[in-house]
Amino acid sequence: MPAARFCTACGAPLPSPPPVACAACGTSHWRNPKPCANAIVLDGDTVLLTRRAHEPWAGMWCAPGGFCEHGEHPLETAEREVLEETGLRVSVTGYVGVWVDGYEDDVINVAYYTAAPLGPPEADPDPAEVSELDWFRLDELPSELAPPGTLAAVVAVARDAGPVLDRRR
Ligand SMILES: [Zn+2]
Repeated sequence: MPAARFCTACGAPLPSPPPVACAACGTSHWRNPKPCANAIVLDGDTVLLTRRAHEPWAGMWCAPGGFCEHGEHPLETAEREVLEETGLRVSVTGYVGVWVDGYEDDVINVAYYTAAPLGPPEADPDPAEVSELDWFRLDELPSELAPPGTLAAVVAVARDAGPVLDRRR
């Protein structure tokens, strides 16, 4: 969605895209990041990754996830998005952290969770989102990971937290 170009308080044109104060009335216009949640779905020493069907990062492998809906906790987002994208029902097992990335013209704050499958897949992957899915050994991840520079670090943190999460089961 393009940034607002007019002041919502007085209607005057804004001197630049937000963040900016209206030159006519002084009202501040903000530009906030969008909250997202992704799941590092683990089964033993393997992780479930999805190959992206669309831009940005089309063709690259990422952790299933997406944008938080209004009023939805990111933990619920992670479980919902995994089911929608992969057909696999999962349960969040731990919290990994938040990473900030650019996404098209926006900035996304992505909460990453570890999750475990609750059973076999209940549906096929969503072809609009996912062109392919596969399980990868944690020490043999594909090279084309998205977001670039982020997902490898996230998986490393999730992997190192593995023994703690295992004890919770
Ligand atoms: Zn104004």
